[in-house]
Amino acid sequence: MSEQTRFLLGESDLPKFWYNINADSPVAPAPVLNPQTLQPVTPDFLSVLFPMDLIMQEVSAERFIEIPEEVREIYKLWRPTPLIRARRLEKFLDTPAHIYFKNEGVSPVGSHKPNTAIPQAYYNKIGGTKALTTETGAGQWGSALSMACNFFGLDLEVYMVKVSYSQKPYRRIMMESFGAQVFASPTDRTNYGRSLLAQSPDNPGSLGIAISEAVEVAATSGGAKKYSLGSVLNHVLLHQTVIGEEALKQMDLAGEYPDVVIGCVGGGSNFGGIAYPFLRQNLREGKNTRIIAVEPTATPSLTKGAYTFDYGDTAQMAPIVKMYTLGHDFLPPPIHAGGLRYHGMSPSISALYNAQLIQAVAVKQLATFEAAMQFTRTEGIVPAPESAHAIRAAIDEALDAKTKGEKRVILFNLSGVGYLDMASYQAYLSGKLEDYEYPAEAIQASMAHLPKVAA
Ligand SMILES: *Cc1c(COP(=O)(O)O)cnc(C)c1O
Repeated sequence: MSEQTRFLLGESDLPKFWYNINADSPVAPAPVLNPQTLQPVTPDFLSVLFPMDLIMQEVSAERFIEIPEEVREIYKLWRPTPLIRARRLEKFLDTPAHIYFKNEGVSPVGSHKPNTAIPQAYYNKIGGTKALTTETGAGQWGSALSMACNFFGLDLEVYMVKVSYSQKPYRRIMMESFGAQVFASPTDRTNYGRSLLAQSPDNPGSLGIAISEAVEVAATSGGAKKYSLGSVLNHVLLHQTVIGEEALKQMDLAGEYPDVVIGCVGGGSNFGGIAYPFLRQNLREGKNTRIIAVEPTATPSLTKGAYTFDYGDTAQMAPIVKMYTLGHDFLPPPIHAGGLRYHGMSPSISALYNAQLIQAVAVKQLATFEAAMQFTRTEGIVPAPESAHAIRAAIDEALDAKTKGEKRVILFNLSGVGYLDMASYQAYLSGKLEDYEYPAEAIQASMAHLPKVAA
């Protein structure tokens, strides 16, 4: 009997709705606070940065939100994405577990990020926005939004973390190919960037700093430019739920249901995207799937951070949210998964983790690259270093099932491919990578400047 490996949906199976976890979550999200007044934000404050449709989605309690036809048309360029049974990896591990992965690496720019870039550009376009600003770390988000802005005829300024700007020229060139302007952050284009460069011209930048610059440019543009964020916020996770909605149907095609669902977490968007539709089945349909977020030991916001109100950026201009955080002036070590180096975590994931409805593990860099290599050599895909964190956890689950002699159905999200991350693989293969555990004292120090809000 031939064994099926790919579980595919047709264009007509493309989801028509995004799923909003806030309709079913038993934990009410904490209010978002204005960074100046420390009081709950007003729509006025948010509308400087975001178009009204996205603000409404951010606070919506509706369970399903319709995906506009214009967005579905573009999703069809790569969606529905394949669900693949990793039979060769299973065989290599000699495990009784069944391992499935959802391949978000098949999008035009190689990751899940266009799932939200397309609707964000769309809602800005119909809201009358002419130009957007954003930040990018390794460049995955910047490439996705560059493509989306190009499709909808919006100008885009990307503030790219300086170390990545120099180390990852190919992502920058991809953004420029789509017509975006890319700047190495900190820049001399903002008050905040100039103040940092005056202290230290060699400042390598960070995601928190690049967010501050992109927010400053939008906030001081007199309404000409709005700001777009690629993770963390409710509307971003909402857009990503197309991943999990498709996966539910595809697991059905495979005739199985996952015991474990796994995703890597930076700000939490690809994890929320695959996990929330399965969490709905836990909350409403009596399913009992374990849902695991995987982070690096180098940026352990869920496993080592505090659940408290903190600024979303380094300059304290972005809204304050309640989240697991390492402190907004946390300086991430230079690990090779740029997309996972944010100091905080999506407030929605933070609340669910605090309520023990989802779990978290931290994995080390070397073990993560080792897992990436096993996946490459068995399944033929070089994963993004971020996604390799999910692979590490999936392999650990499969090995645990082997030890216990259990058949276990494991589903993980392959958030992206790593073909533009060859420098990281070169460093790994030549023995230059090291493990890094963020020291407890450093976490304590970066936690000293939290906003003075009662948690
Ligand atoms: C950006 C990125 C991540 C991390 O962001 P989330 O919002 O946590 O998903 C993970 N994987 C890839 C491939 C990315 O580009």
